[in-house]
Amino acid sequence: MALLDVTDLDVAYGDIHVIWDVDFSVDAGETVALLGANGAGKTTILKTICGVLSPLDGDIVYGGESITEIAPEEAVRRGIAHVPEGREIFADSTVKRNLELGAYTNRGAMGENLERVYEIFPRLEERAGQRAGTLSGGEQQMLAIGRGLMSEPDLLLLDEASLGLAPVLVDDVFEAIQRINEQGTTVFLVEQDIHNALRVADRGYVLKSGRIELSGSAEELAGDERVEASYLGE
Ligand code: ATP
Repeated sequence: MALLDVTDLDVAYGDIHVIWDVDFSVDAGETVALLGANGAGKTTILKTICGVLSPLDGDIVYGGESITEIAPEEAVRRGIAHVPEGREIFADSTVKRNLELGAYTNRGAMGENLERVYEIFPRLEERAGQRAGTLSGGEQQMLAIGRGLMSEPDLLLLDEASLGLAPVLVDDVFEAIQRINEQGTTVFLVEQDIHNALRVADRGYVLKSGRIELSGSAEELAGDERVEASYLGE
């Protein structure tokens, strides 16, 4: 059984219909990538899964239960963590405080989760007392992911984790994603960076103008020229 099963999803912002009949699933233990050009609707899909947006139509089933109309706090309680595009960290709070705030639902043990985050991102432990707003872009991204891990999620939703980072930091972030997955967290990631996304993912879906255009194993998609073409709006 899939951990996450999305069927016939339609999402609109008022009169603007942006997601049409979208179907996809994510099995426990997988890393699945959602690819697509700017404005294809990737962020909208993530926000709908984690309860920030309500769909117009369709079903979202997680762990065998419908979460179609779930509130964001309830999604976190059930084990879904969302790392939003743009990070949204608390700039004036310390790194450690930001991480503690990620554990607000009290899923799991704070100390153990903090240790796990520091083990994946040693830099965050070194900077624990530093104001988050003064971290570099890459460190802020690590903090955003770390904060998501503090709720001990079964499913981690990552929105453009590598956006705007220098290549060496992009490698670090993808390496961390791989480790997080190897440690048992299922990952669903939205990415512009097709190459890296398909390197860490088991499978992928390509979204074009709000519809799933292609899907397949990471290997199949990496060798399919239609994937890149869909980014160029062809
Ligand atoms: P990007 O890679 O640029 O973040 P995306 O694939 O994540 O793009 P979305 O952010 O989901 O795309 O946007 C999908 C469509 O919905 C776009 O046409 C966008 O303009 C529109 N949209 C997003 N948010 C709103 C909103 N609050 N009100 C109206 N339209 C919106």
